[in-house]
Amino acid sequence: MNDIGRSRLQVGVDVPWVTSWSGEALAGVAPCATVGGGLAVRQGERPGFGRPQYSRNHMRRQRESVARMLCPMCGAPTATGDRWLQTARRVAAGALRARGFGDMLPADLRDDRVLVDAGAIAPCHLRCAKRAAAYCPHLQAHTSGELIAFPPAWTILPLMVKATPAHLIGPVSRAVPVVAFLQLCGVTEEHDAGWRSHAVEAGFSAR
Ligand SMILES: [Zn+2]
Repeated sequence: MNDIGRSRLQVGVDVPWVTSWSGEALAGVAPCATVGGGLAVRQGERPGFGRPQYSRNHMRRQRESVARMLCPMCGAPTATGDRWLQTARRVAAGALRARGFGDMLPADLRDDRVLVDAGAIAPCHLRCAKRAAAYCPHLQAHTSGELIAFPPAWTILPLMVKATPAHLIGPVSRAVPVVAFLQLCGVTEEHDAGWRSHAVEAGFSAR
């Protein structure tokens, strides 16, 4: 198989829709609809060409999956009540603020509110989560197999990198913050009164 030829593997069936392919090179920085037209890292769009890069998400598809609640496995929208995570970490809003994410969290979210930090992975349909658990060796090795229900409310945290857009490249190139991926946190109705000590136990200090 040619490295950039069309793969026999099917996107959304054999390979998750959000996965990056070797035929999709990074392509600088450009305004992107997934972040409201702001600057974001751009990547070529040739899903299904070359080899799947299972450990990497495609930059735009990852952002789109979080921004529009698309299932990362099949790429179709998910609905409230059918959103499931393979892995997630429960964390208080205050603990995320202590790690420097304060500017990105809604100001009215109390420090003791429990969030479900999904990282950069949007929730899947139940049928897709079950299919992934049956076929993906990585999931079998690294998760308990128990699915976590994603709450009906959530907040999105942009993960920023510094990059220089084409129009700022010149004798005095200037790097600016641009969005790489989007991180997703479900907002539960629960409160954790002991969040400060739990944050310390988890290895980061709370103010
Ligand atoms: Zn799906």
